[in-house]
Amino acid sequence: MTTMQPTPKATTQGSIEHYDAVIIGAGVGGLYALHHLRTMGLSVRVYDGAAGVGGTWWWNRYPGARVDGPGSPFYCYTFSEDLMQEWDWAETQPDQPSVLAYLEYVADRLDLRRDIQLETWIRDACYDEAAQRWTVETSAGVRISAQFLVCAVGTLSAPNSPDIPGIQTFAGECYHTGRWPQTPVSFAGKRVGVIGTGSSGVQAVPEIAREAAHLTVFQRTPQYSIPARNRPLDPEVTRQVRENWAAIRAQLNANSVGMPFEMSQRLACEDTPEQRLALYEDLWQKGGFHLLFSSYADLLTNKEANRTLAEFVRGKIREVVRDPKTAEKLMPDYYLGTKRQLLDNGYYETFNRNNVTLVDLREDPIQEITPTGVRTTTGNHSLDMLVLATGFDAITGTLLRLNPKGRDGVSLQEKWRARFDTYLGMMIADFPNLFMIHGPGSPSVLYNMPLGAERESGWIGDCVRYLRERGLGAIEPTPDAEKSWDREVTDLANTTLYPLTDSWYTGANIPGKPRQFCVHLGGPLYFQRLSEVAAKGYEGFVFEQERRTEVVAAF
Ligand SMILES: Cc1cc2nc3c(=O)[nH]c(=O)nc-3n(C[C@H](O)[C@H](O)[C@H](O)COP(=O)(O)OP(=O)(O)OC[C@H]3O[C@@H](n4cnc5c(N)ncnc54)[C@H](O)[C@@H]3O)c2cc1C
Repeated sequence: MTTMQPTPKATTQGSIEHYDAVIIGAGVGGLYALHHLRTMGLSVRVYDGAAGVGGTWWWNRYPGARVDGPGSPFYCYTFSEDLMQEWDWAETQPDQPSVLAYLEYVADRLDLRRDIQLETWIRDACYDEAAQRWTVETSAGVRISAQFLVCAVGTLSAPNSPDIPGIQTFAGECYHTGRWPQTPVSFAGKRVGVIGTGSSGVQAVPEIAREAAHLTVFQRTPQYSIPARNRPLDPEVTRQVRENWAAIRAQLNANSVGMPFEMSQRLACEDTPEQRLALYEDLWQKGGFHLLFSSYADLLTNKEANRTLAEFVRGKIREVVRDPKTAEKLMPDYYLGTKRQLLDNGYYETFNRNNVTLVDLREDPIQEITPTGVRTTTGNHSLDMLVLATGFDAITGTLLRLNPKGRDGVSLQEKWRARFDTYLGMMIADFPNLFMIHGPGSPSVLYNMPLGAERESGWIGDCVRYLRERGLGAIEPTPDAEKSWDREVTDLANTTLYPLTDSWYTGANIPGKPRQFCVHLGGPLYFQRLSEVAAKGYEGFVFEQERRTEVVAAF
């Protein structure tokens, strides 16, 4: 890796510390960005409100939380052969403590902690046009200045707490899965209610049911879930991956979702119904995302192809769930895969237990939460504990809560009132020198996210180098570049079934949020576009010469 010389240190002017770059977030994205920019010789400071590194894997400690796609040993950093050789994954779908332990190991191994300040929320971020720098303010009121602001704030990081009448009055324990307590939570002997049956809900439900006296699952939208079939990772797989790491890394980079799947090229209509059934059965038994990615190429683009798989999974639900009425309540009705595809370890089986009740909120909506439980149209459900598995204000929520102020004091909330405009999912017009990792308009949540973070940080590093080598002080995209990027993202999405479904991908889970599918579905094409833009001298961007103010001269 190229190193910029000399390595600048942070400087202090008055009461303000100055860095080349401030990174917000010490998750998968922020940790790698720190390593990468620091290796280039930049002075960097990372801030995170959490009390530990790991982001998602620090916050989401609910029972059952684990990686589903792409599983071990591919949900990890790929840039370092050493890390790959050194870290042993135990299971095919590592659980939250394992991923957190891995990220803590990486932070220690790369000596990242000395540049990370934890338990520190960034409450404000303003661009100073004259200085060509960002000033951020922490929750303790401390101000810090940096030329570059890297927002690695997470796409699934701003919890969505439902606005249910009376929720504040509940007298029992109440936890959001995305803000799970650091100390163990016991369900033993308790009547527990879980609201929400998305990714976190289907992971938590089987675990809670095993321990609780009674579990009531409040379901608004039934979802398709595929067995994860988590199992011990075969040491032979680890050995082969280690021996062929360069080739496997190239394969991940070339894959449309950054995963080691063999993507099918075959169309569903090319097989007979019997052949399709046999293939679906085989992949269902294999478990994981294979069913979606390795069966047919047109499942997410062709309604009829999608229907064949949806019917198959609905049949599986009827097979597994013994009570036909409960099975019907669990029956999903949307294009399979167009909501975050769920993987589970015994979700549908849980509804065969005597201590589990399913409440279908479409026919029996919640009226209010009372001090002692949940009141639906048909009656009261007495509870000792409420678990809110209600997800996140995804992709844009955390950035909007940060609400940086760009040129002329324009706030991100104003800029994104109607549409989440970005260029390349990396930068925003009127917000010079602000970079996003996994921003709207990037592949973000539909890509192997550690790999995506690495590749995006690489682009950010190259961009910073480009500016520095030419004496440029600021970069931002043009509004026209944003418009054409929006068209590119939207045109790609419109070739698929994704925009036809209400989901957190489209913002439908948050009342009042603009409906926009803002994930770039190009996979390798996206990263090729990043490279092309850079190769053309950052086409679509405008630059400012560096203004040699006292502060800038300090570097
Ligand atoms: C339960 C769960 C399972 C998942 N499974 C998978 C999977 O199988 N495969 C996959 O690819 N992805 C998965 N994801 C997505 C996961 O979020 C990403 O893989 C990855 O961890 C995101 O890393 P990040 O650094 O971008 O963001 P995060 O890990 O979300 O980190 C962002 C950090 O920024 C901090 N932050 C935000 N705002 C501020 C602020 N204003 N001031 C200070 N700090 C701030 C937060 O505290 C947080 O620690 C899963 C997510 C969840 C919730």
